[in-house]
Amino acid sequence: MTPSFTSEFQALKAAAPRIGALPLSHRRNRLNALRAELIRRRSELHAAMRADLNRPEVDSDLNELLPVKDSIDHVLANLSRWTRTDCLPLPLTLIPGRAEIHHEPKGVALIVSPWNFPVNLCLVPLVYAVGAGNTVCLKPSELAPASAAFIASVVEAVFPADEVCVIQGDVSVAVALLEQPWNHIFFTGSPGVGSKVMAAASKYLASVTLELGGKSPVFVHEGYGADAAGRRIAWAKGLNAGQVCIAPDYALVPAAQRADFIQGFKAGVAQHYGDSPASNPDWVRIIQPRHWDRLNDWLQEAIAEGAQVWQPDAPDRDRLYFPPTLVWDAPEHLQVSCSEIFGPILPVFTYTSTDDALTRVNSGPQPLVLYILSHAKAWTDRIIHETRAGGTVVNDFYLHYMHPELPFGGVNNSGIGKSHGIWGFREFSNARSVYRRGRFAPTMLLTPPYKGWVKKVVGWLVS
Ligand code: NAD
Repeated sequence: MTPSFTSEFQALKAAAPRIGALPLSHRRNRLNALRAELIRRRSELHAAMRADLNRPEVDSDLNELLPVKDSIDHVLANLSRWTRTDCLPLPLTLIPGRAEIHHEPKGVALIVSPWNFPVNLCLVPLVYAVGAGNTVCLKPSELAPASAAFIASVVEAVFPADEVCVIQGDVSVAVALLEQPWNHIFFTGSPGVGSKVMAAASKYLASVTLELGGKSPVFVHEGYGADAAGRRIAWAKGLNAGQVCIAPDYALVPAAQRADFIQGFKAGVAQHYGDSPASNPDWVRIIQPRHWDRLNDWLQEAIAEGAQVWQPDAPDRDRLYFPPTLVWDAPEHLQVSCSEIFGPILPVFTYTSTDDALTRVNSGPQPLVLYILSHAKAWTDRIIHETRAGGTVVNDFYLHYMHPELPFGGVNNSGIGKSHGIWGFREFSNARSVYRRGRFAPTMLLTPPYKGWVKKVVGWLVS
């Protein structure tokens, strides 16, 4: 039977005007309570991450707890400024009067999140939604059940159910939730599901934020040092076993330097994860057998089509272990060449001219991130100016995500709308225009019938 969430939605909708009108201290108290609850239950968070992904505790602290805590701190520090009514100067035609922008909550928000950073990607949007004064329904991913249970329990301890509720379940639950007339939907997940979410939102014209994925390239400049580039990418691709929306998806390396790059990648894997990552207790596992099968199928397809492959040890489906994997000489039409990998496989492609590399990237969808490893500023600037991407990091990985005021998000296929800092707050806010006239309203002087002097004034205005 198809589930229905009308009663949960109605409770959130009924509470929304009251919650939105409470003083800011209410939002601050809730966010402080959320922060304290998460820190108090840090070891439960670690356990949930180990259960869902075999995630090391340090990674859970850095990539789950810290972003939520930092977002709360940033919202608390800026909430007064973000919510302050802005007063604008007036054009001649609007004098006398007052023009204001009120930053009001949108109302009732739905947040649907993925499994790869399950707590972060559910609770960071929640922080902005609550900061903006909304009531919220959270739908965590069913593929990280220990994390979903943790989120539900934390939220229940901090918020009444008509302020924030958590609904756990699979795709059918998500589909049923999308039947409700939300004021805003914040979705993080794959581009394919994102387009379904947008279609569902169009039924009630709900606004959407879509944080999606895609193939994020790494441009390696010839002067950077291919060996060093390989080492750095080995670390970046290894984080969460490549199951990161902003992971480097593939590398673009000068043709003459490919062998050095491959050597560097192998050395980087050994340095960070040992000669056999299979026996490294901190190597993150693949989330589900079907995801492991997808990676393996794509790899087998590449091998069958003549690609070269390097792995430090063998994949093991029983343990959902998939090693860091380098692929080169892969034809363009293969899955590893065309589709988002979302795992620890790194295809390497070569270029002989910068134009070639640009053409390759610009012929595909606009990526979520475009990475550049280069110490040549002019070349770096050329890559930035002649491409489009949600974000760019030069000579490092992931760090744009960590800045509280850099807008985070994609472009078209990699996302619509931005998150983080004021950008996240605004996604959940309506910028409402308010124009106030006093007793004297000169508008009435310009109404029909149009006398000669009215025509003169209007003629003067448009001249
Ligand atoms: P997914 O799209 O399969 O699922 C995300 C959420 O959507 C889950 O809660 C799931 O239950 C729900 N869902 C699945 N099918 C649905 C449907 N038909 N209708 C409505 N809801 C549905 O994504 P995933 O596998 O959980 O995550 C991987 C993808 O997410 C990758 O593409 C990755 O790049 C992207 N991602 C993006 C970001 C970002 O911030 N841009 C962050 C993490 C992951």
